[in-house]
Amino acid sequence: MKKIFFAGCALLLCMGFARVQAQEKDALSEQQLKMMEAFHIVSAADIDQWARTLVSDEYRGRRSGDIGYDMAVDFVIDHFMEWGIQPKGDNGTYENTFAQPYCDVQGVGFLKAYYAIGKDTVVKNYVARKDYFPTALSDGGEATGELVYVGYGINAPELGYNDYKGVDLTGKIVLCEGGFPYKGKNVDSLKMWNKYLRAQPKIAAAKAAGAKGLLFVSKYANPMPMQTPGMIVAFVSKETAQELLSGTGRSFDEWHKRFDAFKGKAVPTGHIVSLGAENTFYGDRTTANIVGVIEGSDPVLKNEYIILGAHIDHLGMLPEIYPGAQDNVSGSVITMAAAKALALSKVDLKRSVVIVLFASEELGILGAEHFLKTLPFPKEKVTCMINTDMLATGTGFMVHSSNEWADLVPYFRSASEEWARRPFKANLTPWEYKTRLFTDGNLFQNFQIPTFELKSTGGKWPAPYHVPEDTMDQLDPVIMADAARTMAIAVIQIANK
Ligand SMILES: [Zn+2]
Repeated sequence: MKKIFFAGCALLLCMGFARVQAQEKDALSEQQLKMMEAFHIVSAADIDQWARTLVSDEYRGRRSGDIGYDMAVDFVIDHFMEWGIQPKGDNGTYENTFAQPYCDVQGVGFLKAYYAIGKDTVVKNYVARKDYFPTALSDGGEATGELVYVGYGINAPELGYNDYKGVDLTGKIVLCEGGFPYKGKNVDSLKMWNKYLRAQPKIAAAKAAGAKGLLFVSKYANPMPMQTPGMIVAFVSKETAQELLSGTGRSFDEWHKRFDAFKGKAVPTGHIVSLGAENTFYGDRTTANIVGVIEGSDPVLKNEYIILGAHIDHLGMLPEIYPGAQDNVSGSVITMAAAKALALSKVDLKRSVVIVLFASEELGILGAEHFLKTLPFPKEKVTCMINTDMLATGTGFMVHSSNEWADLVPYFRSASEEWARRPFKANLTPWEYKTRLFTDGNLFQNFQIPTFELKSTGGKWPAPYHVPEDTMDQLDPVIMADAARTMAIAVIQIANK
C-alpha cells in the first residue's frame, strides 16, 4: 500500500485552483467558492478507507445474489443518507431490485484425466487455479466420460452451424472454447453469432447433445450462475487443453484453425476425463442497483439528468475470495467520492445528478440492463452518462466516447488540466453499435445516450484481472482522489452549461 497519499493531501494546497485563489476572494462568485469546496471535500483518506472496507473478507467479493453484495449495498446507502443524497430506486427506496439466481461454489472440485501409455493407464490430477478453474456455471456433482473436442461448441440452426453434428456425445465430456468462428463485421450477423459468445449456450448445447460435462478453455474465473442442471463444468487453461488433446494427431491450435475455417469436426480424444464441482444453486435470490439523486435547482433543467455509474459487484468466492479492488471497488469509491463532494458542498446544479452503483456487471451487464429497463425518466432526458470501471493507478486522465458527443469533452479537459492539474486526452471514435459489451457504459452508448468512460493514463497494465490477487495494494488513492475531483468539477460544469 502506498502511504504517499498524505503527501498528496498537502500538495492540494498548490494545485489547480491556485489560479482562482490568486484573485481577490470577493471577486469569486459564490458558485466558484462552492466548486472549490467540492474539490476539497474529496479526500484520498476517504477513498482509502471505503476501499479497504469493500475489499475486506466480510464482503466476500461482492457477487450479486450473495450476502457480501448486500452488505456493500447497505454500506453505500448509509453514506448516501449521511450526505443527503435522495433515493431514486424502486418505490422511494435506494434499491432498484431484480431477480438474480446464484450458485455457491463451496470447493475447488477436481479434474483428472486417464492417459493410456502402452498397456498402462496413467492418472493425472490437475491442479485447481493453475490447470483448471472452478466456476459457478457448474451444477454440483461429478461426471466421467471420454473427452471430445468440439471447437466453439455451438449449435445454431438459424445460422446453419452445428459443432455437434455427426458425433455421439451420450455420456461424454465436451471440450470447447469461447467465441464463434464468424470473423466478419456485419452487425446483423454479429448480433446473431453473439448469442453464442459465452459459455452458457455452449453448456446447454452440449447437454442437448447428450454430454454430462464440459471443459471450457479460459483462465478467467466465471461467476455466472448455473443455468443447465446436471452439467458439470470447469474452465481449463490452454496448456491443459493442449495436453488433453495429446494423441489426436494435431495440436490445439491446429484443430482450432480448422473450426475457424468452418471445417471443424468433433475430435474424440480417447482420454477418459473425470471432473467434480462442489456447487449449490439458489434460484430465488435477488440483487439491486443502488440509485441516488441530487435534484437540480432549475425548474426546467432539473428534469435533465447526468448519470454517474460504476459497478460495485465482483466475482465473489470461487471458492477463494476475489476482492476485486481495481474491478471495481476503484470506480465505485471514485463515484462515491464525487457524489459526496457534490452533495455536501451544496454547489448549484441546475440539472439533476443520478448516482448508480450497478449490480451484476460481472454476470453479464445485467444491473445496467435492468436500470435502463426501469429508468425513472425518459432516455432522451439523460444529458450524459459517466462510467468508471477500473481506474486505480496512473498519472493523468482520459475519456473514451464518440465523436457525436465531443461537445462535452472540454468540461472534462478543464476539470482535469486546470483543476486537478493532470494531463488529459480524449479518445473519440465514430458511434457504433457494440455487440460485445465490456462495461455498463457500453450498454448506455448502444442506446445513443452520450456516454463517457473515465480512465486514467500512465497506469500499469496488465493489472491482475479477475484473480484473487486484485487486492488493496493495486490501488493508488491519490490518483483516484484526483479522478473523483475531475469527475465532480466536470459534472458541475455540465450540469450548469
Ligand atoms: Zn470484471
